[in-house]
Amino acid sequence: MARYTDAVCRLCRRNVEKLFLKGPRCYTEKCAVVKRAFPPGQHGQGRKQKLSNYGLQLKEKQKVKWMYGVLEKQFRRYFKIASKTKGVTGRVLLQLLERRLDNVIFRLGLSTSRVQGRQSVRHNYIYVNSRRVNIPSFMVSKGDVIEVKAKEGPVKKLKENLELNKDRTVPSWLEFNAADMKATVIRLPEKEDIPATIQEQLIVELYSK
Ligand code: SF4
Repeated sequence: MARYTDAVCRLCRRNVEKLFLKGPRCYTEKCAVVKRAFPPGQHGQGRKQKLSNYGLQLKEKQKVKWMYGVLEKQFRRYFKIASKTKGVTGRVLLQLLERRLDNVIFRLGLSTSRVQGRQSVRHNYIYVNSRRVNIPSFMVSKGDVIEVKAKEGPVKKLKENLELNKDRTVPSWLEFNAADMKATVIRLPEKEDIPATIQEQLIVELYSK
C-alpha cells in the first residue's frame, strides 16, 4: 500500500503543531517543532501568511490525514462513509480514524507512533477477539478484545514502548491491562477523547463543495 515516505517533521512544522509522527523523538527537546516553531522553507520566518477559507480547510484536512497516516483516496473513503452514517459527519469521520487498529496500538502506548503501531500490526503481533489481524486500517468495535501474541523479542520491544509511554494516558474508551498487554474497547471514541486540536467542520466544508 502506498504511504508517505518523505521527511515527516516538515509536516508538523508546516502546521507549527506536533503531530507525533516520529516516535520517541517527538517527546524530547529534539523535536523540530520545539527547536524551530515556524513553517519550513525560505519564507518560513517571514510575515505570517493570511490563509483564505479554502486554505484553512485544506490545511486542516492535510493535518488530520498526516496525523493518522492516511492517504487522500482512503481519507475520502472515510469521509464518504461518515457522510452516509447517522450523526455529525465531522465527528463520525474522526471516530472512524480513531478506531483504526494502528491508532489503537498507539493510543495504548504499545508504540511510540502510529507508524510503529502499523508495523506491529503488519508483523502479526496483534490479535483481535483471539484472531490475528494484520490490517492496520482494521476498525475496532465496542466489545473487541485486543491483545499481543508474539515471540519474546517483539514482546520485549512492546514492553519498552510501554515504559517510554508511561506518562501518556490511555483514553477512557479503552480499558487496558498493561501487564497482560490486553485491551477492551468499552465504547466508541468521541471527539473529546482525541488529545489534539482538530477543527473537523473545516474538513466537512472542504469536501462538501
Ligand atoms: Fe513532529 Fe515528532 Fe518531528 Fe516533532 S519530532 S516535528 S512531533 S514528527
